[in-house]
Amino acid sequence: MKALLIVDMQNDFMPGGPLGVKGADELVSVINAMIPKFHHVVASMDWHPADHVSFAKSHPGKKEGEFVKVGDIDQVLWADHCVRNTRGAELVSGLDKENISSCFFKGTDKNIDSYSAFFDNARRKSTGLGDYLRSRGVTDVYLAGVATDYCVLYSTLDAIDLGFTVHVIVDACRPINLDPRDEERALAAIAAKGGKIVRADQV
Ligand SMILES: [Zn+2]
Repeated sequence: MKALLIVDMQNDFMPGGPLGVKGADELVSVINAMIPKFHHVVASMDWHPADHVSFAKSHPGKKEGEFVKVGDIDQVLWADHCVRNTRGAELVSGLDKENISSCFFKGTDKNIDSYSAFFDNARRKSTGLGDYLRSRGVTDVYLAGVATDYCVLYSTLDAIDLGFTVHVIVDACRPINLDPRDEERALAAIAAKGGKIVRADQV
């Protein structure tokens, strides 16, 4: 049983948004075209309180791109994005929402970020996505969305840890590339852990 996990296709991650990912808007049609090929389609959504720990403005004197320690985790600081119940946090228009059966919210706790659609960055709390997929007999998880080097990467690694066979649809994802080699490194980490890198026309 195959499931498509659409990662963070939200307004604030689209070009022109506060955390715009280059080319993310091009993914809408690519993802919509693949949806009929899956038994289950789910989406993750970044869903932060307004004073979230990942926002630079929550740390006086710190700037976007700088790091703070959250417990023993290095947290990179971002511009405000995906504040829950705002337009920026909505799924991008044009995405075939009718055929998304469930959305999983992450980064909802103000004190911890969550790149993965499965667990927060400290792996203390689950979003419920793993149980949802398993209870529906899903064996194979395919990922599309943003960003390859953050939320897609960490969701993929967790899905592999949870025992799913995981396929990253590389041309249905886009990277942030804070460092220009981040996408390459993310794909290498995925492959090294046993994830499969595929293209949309192979799905
Ligand atoms: Zn976020």
